[in-house]
Amino acid sequence: MKHSDKKTEPTSFTHYKDKRVGKKHGRKLSYGHFKKQGPKKELTVHIMDEQKNLCCYCGRRISGENKSHLEHFFSQKHFKKLALDYSNMFISCGLTGTGYTPETCGFHKKELEIDANLIPSNRNCEGNFIYGSDGTITGLNPEAKAAIKILNLGEATLASDRKVVISGLEGMIASGEISKTNWQTELPKLCAASDGSEPGYVQVIRRYIEAEFS
Ligand SMILES: [Zn+2]
Repeated sequence: MKHSDKKTEPTSFTHYKDKRVGKKHGRKLSYGHFKKQGPKKELTVHIMDEQKNLCCYCGRRISGENKSHLEHFFSQKHFKKLALDYSNMFISCGLTGTGYTPETCGFHKKELEIDANLIPSNRNCEGNFIYGSDGTITGLNPEAKAAIKILNLGEATLASDRKVVISGLEGMIASGEISKTNWQTELPKLCAASDGSEPGYVQVIRRYIEAEFS
């Protein structure tokens, strides 16, 4: 789970919803209509930007809009009223046929529900998980353990990617580049990519260093 700092929705999305429920139309909002005629592309770009182009669940960098999935944290099946609620909309990876196989994240979740405290917009969501040197992810409570299964976050490709990230951190720790005395000043630098975004699996970096030194 990666924290996503949710901001305000794009005005085109607000206007679309206002228009749909306005006197002129008087229709109910539906995700089906939005998908066909709403500003889906603009909304996707907006959320991708908010998430620094990383998947809201696994933290993998999503390259290209066609590899992403507009994800509802609370499923459309069980929470119809949240289908066009911005606070429930994220971008995840895991789109079938785009190289991310087997399925993970939103595509693996389908209509299953994850504990509300683990919603990516919750600043503390990342603290429910820890990562091992071999790239394994462990839930620290039953809800987090269930989320790992629902999102397939233990999947081998993800574990292998996390292992690479962690082995880089271990090298920095071994060389003294990151130590007990400087980790708090070094960690923000590690979590910032050169282009102003965040490096892939940024939550793994945060959690691994925190677990090591705090
Ligand atoms: Zn993902």
